[in-house]
Amino acid sequence: MKRQLIYPMEEKYQEYLSDESKMMGKANSISFPQSEEEILEIITKMRKSHIPITVQGGKTGITGCAVPSKGHILNLSNMNRVKEFIKTDEGNTFLRVESGITLLELKKEIRRLKNQEALFWPPDPTESSATVGGIASCNARGISSYLYGDTRKYIEGARVIHFDGTIKDIRRGEIAIPFLGFEKDLLDLYIGGEGMFGILTELTLKLQPKPKEIWGISFFFEKKEDVFDFADSLIRENLQGEKANLAAIEYIDKVTMDEIQKRKAFMTKLKELPDIAPEFCAMVYIEIHGWEEEALEGIAEVLMEMAENCNSDSNRAWALSGDTDIEKMKNLRHGAAECTNLFIEKIRLKEPRITKLGTDMSLEGESFKSVITKYETDIENEGLRACIFGHVGGNHLHVNILPENYEEYEKGRRLLKKWAKEIGEKKGKVVTEHGVGKLKKSIFLQTASRDYIEELERLKNTYDPIKMWNPGNMIEE
Ligand SMILES: Cc1cc2nc3c(=O)[nH]c(=O)nc-3n(C[C@H](O)[C@H](O)[C@H](O)COP(=O)(O)OP(=O)(O)OC[C@H]3O[C@@H](n4cnc5c(N)ncnc54)[C@H](O)[C@@H]3O)c2cc1C
Repeated sequence: MKRQLIYPMEEKYQEYLSDESKMMGKANSISFPQSEEEILEIITKMRKSHIPITVQGGKTGITGCAVPSKGHILNLSNMNRVKEFIKTDEGNTFLRVESGITLLELKKEIRRLKNQEALFWPPDPTESSATVGGIASCNARGISSYLYGDTRKYIEGARVIHFDGTIKDIRRGEIAIPFLGFEKDLLDLYIGGEGMFGILTELTLKLQPKPKEIWGISFFFEKKEDVFDFADSLIRENLQGEKANLAAIEYIDKVTMDEIQKRKAFMTKLKELPDIAPEFCAMVYIEIHGWEEEALEGIAEVLMEMAENCNSDSNRAWALSGDTDIEKMKNLRHGAAECTNLFIEKIRLKEPRITKLGTDMSLEGESFKSVITKYETDIENEGLRACIFGHVGGNHLHVNILPENYEEYEKGRRLLKKWAKEIGEKKGKVVTEHGVGKLKKSIFLQTASRDYIEELERLKNTYDPIKMWNPGNMIEE
């Protein structure tokens, strides 16, 4: 008997109406296809009835881009197989996977590859239930983007289903399309496209040799001036070498550390970490990736000296190495994001209109101190509380407002718009790694140039003329 593909939206599917943005959407039906044939059958039915489709991966996005505004939900979590491992004559390695494979599953599959030196896929937005399709569609970055950059660099090809059911295999560099007077690789329309132009069913991932040594060091500071000086000196010194590099420089402020400390005992992944002493006002987590122990030692020594010069006691720093221990440190940084999401989840029980209120803005070229002081002053003047954490490189900080009620939520929204305007005027990036989705749409439309928005609308009309995919994302429906 043929299995049922489309289910009406019942109570048991409620969780699929939301993602980590904590926005709540609407839909009439949902499906969990297991193959391209099933996807084709579903989308043919929807097309005939003029029903739009929202595509979902792991629903870990934080801008509501996988939250349906109407129609059908196509959830790809059952499309998680590995299709092919490819090694070229030049020694490059690729893994062709279905797009619903999660980061956690992918890591296991890569470890299982036989007769290969250790390999890895660099994009790591820290949330291991995110799928490769979602990571590609948001062009996510994550904590080691200081060294590795964004996801785009690690995708070599994709298989895409279009609104009319045609399927296309696209390879990097094969097809160029006009974009704002320049040429854009067609593959990059889908990477970062937030599912607006077609469904990615498969992706060919470019794997990299895994560094032999990975060390993580967390430095703690008692005074803000000291941590600001440390962050600025790290960017100024740019400690990159041939055999070892800084891969991550992550800042976590006092409010965030307190939120982590409060929840630590209940979060399995954080339980094992030592407590963070109350006198510390901030920490900086640094990850070093390298090939020779001596080279890593060299960088670590310089870091220790720099930290000491900024009054961070190196005897109280946490230094770890090896996959398991590094994972624990990463969990701490991940816990920063998770705690703010948990806070919003809890406050929504009292006030369901509240959603996540976080920034994803970056501003190169200014001092870390000036950027963070500006955020902190505005938050204090508004009488709000916020967690500030994120990437020191590019001053790419995630400021997450923690509103206690709807009035504070509204104040926070106004602040986010104000910051977006100011950062846009300074030619910074208003949306860097989380995407636009629905939650950041008004900020995006307010700050992006008219030409850019018109170009997006033109591409949407070309690649999805019947407005089948992801209604409400990025541009007006
Ligand atoms: C605690 C926490 C920490 C995080 N930290 C980071 C971080 O440091 N850096 C970072 O960049 N992100 C971070 N994120 C955000 C998140 O993990 C990413 O946005 C992730 O890339 C989304 O993957 P997903 O599978 O959950 O996609 P979903 O949320 O399901 O979908 C995201 C978008 O992709 C589209 N999509 C999904 N699959 C497909 C497909 N196969 N074809 C076409 N479109 C598709 C959806 O329609 C939607 O528009 C964090 C999230 C959480 C919860």
